Amino acid sequence: MSSDNNVQLYIDGKWRQTADTLPIVNPANEHVIGQVAVASTSDLHDAVVAAEKGFRIWKRTSPAQRAAIMLKAAALMRERQEEIARSITLENGKPLKEGRAEVIRGCEFFEWDAGECTRHYGRVIPSAPGIRYIVLHEPIGAVAAFSPWNFPMSQPARKISGAIAAGCSIIIKASEETPSGVVHIAKALEDAGLPAGVLNLVFGVPAVISEYLIPQPQMRMVAFTGSTAVGKHLTELASRYMKPALMELGGHAPVVVCDDADPVAAGIASATRKYRNSGQVCTSPTRFFVHESIYDRFKSAFVEKARSLTVGDGMEASTQMGPVANGRRIEALQALVDDARARGAQILCGGSRLHNRGYFFAPTAIAELPDDARALQEEPFGPLAIINPVSSIEEAIDKANSLPFGLAAYGFTRSAANVDRLMQGIESGNLSINTLEASVAETPFGGVKESGIGREGGAEGLTHYTVVKTISHQID
Ligand code: NAD
Repeated sequence: MSSDNNVQLYIDGKWRQTADTLPIVNPANEHVIGQVAVASTSDLHDAVVAAEKGFRIWKRTSPAQRAAIMLKAAALMRERQEEIARSITLENGKPLKEGRAEVIRGCEFFEWDAGECTRHYGRVIPSAPGIRYIVLHEPIGAVAAFSPWNFPMSQPARKISGAIAAGCSIIIKASEETPSGVVHIAKALEDAGLPAGVLNLVFGVPAVISEYLIPQPQMRMVAFTGSTAVGKHLTELASRYMKPALMELGGHAPVVVCDDADPVAAGIASATRKYRNSGQVCTSPTRFFVHESIYDRFKSAFVEKARSLTVGDGMEASTQMGPVANGRRIEALQALVDDARARGAQILCGGSRLHNRGYFFAPTAIAELPDDARALQEEPFGPLAIINPVSSIEEAIDKANSLPFGLAAYGFTRSAANVDRLMQGIESGNLSINTLEASVAETPFGGVKESGIGREGGAEGLTHYTVVKTISHQID
């Protein structure tokens, strides 16, 4: 699959080296730690042919056999947890503990979808005598999928497991910056006996790959996780060829902290979650709207926790927050902080780059930021939290809904009446109360508004990878 950290393509069941490569950089020290293959048009052509061949084999493979291969691959990845986690930390920067948790989460997607594929039932519609109406869910075909760098293993896992559980084949372009996670998935599936062509792995220039794959008639669907801007572009491209698009895009998650919440417990829990993966999570809690009666106590608890975090190389056991994944994030975060400062906001902690080497940015919290400040309008996608006071839950809900995003949202309250107001009022695909976990394998996950189209995970997850066929059968 790779030698000396030279990551190869995986096409039609074979690993393939290319002439062109791109460097892989460790964000903790900026050292080049490997090379990733760059697919040519001819490689992409071969991947499409392989995916079409793989689909023909796989759609005729029984759900029980598909599930067995998926479960075997998950078991292998659990055995290889440490090796996979280390590759994630070296390429993405997150603490090793988070890398280990990510591997388990990726395995859980395979395990859930393996079970789900054996019970993805069609139905028989009640009919007049002599005729029978049957509804079948058939796999849609070969899927073109694109996954990002923030969860190098669990993000591609969710797409691959959904597609192959449904009986589809898939060509996935994972992130060139963090390629090893998906390579481990391909290796585990290969070792578990996945037929050649069902999963194909390519890397290269993202726009070249998407613009080649999406128009190909063999590719029947597009699945993407990443920024709203790129998601819109790929959705336009897919619609030009009348292909469905499953889009998991940006968020800017609001957290409504009600007057009856425990401000210290909520503050500590929020800061702990905020800085996970250095805040580079589409569900990261970011816009805190805290009732004015508990605002100061929440803020103190949050900032105390943020300041206590040890920031360093994710490979070191003491590290609680690693670097951000690349230099682009440093520039984006600094611009948001500078804008906040210019508008008179309070920088409660952090606000700048750390250390001389590596892409480290301090855990940052900003208070009393005006609504039109950039950090309140644009997803920071980094270790930056905004904590603003509100005088009522209604004001908090209005502010929460004021952006074009609606992926994850959170609330802290002990009142059933407040829970009901949040459930009715918040515009988001996922709402979590008194917990900052937005989704698990068995729950559907996805956005409303510009945060995306469709759901991954849960019983809904397989639906997008299938098409409905209605059979009308005149019996005599
Ligand atoms: P980006 O939008 O350039 O890239 C995001 C991902 O999309 C990358 O994996 C990239 O390879 C891929 N991509 C980019 N252009 C593409 C194209 N034309 N065709 C196919 N794939 C393409 O941004 P970035 O600098 O890598 O990340 C910045 C922003 O992306 C963040 O601010 C965040 O909003 C968003 N993001 C979101 C998620 C998420 O989980 N929803 C993950 C990563 C990044």
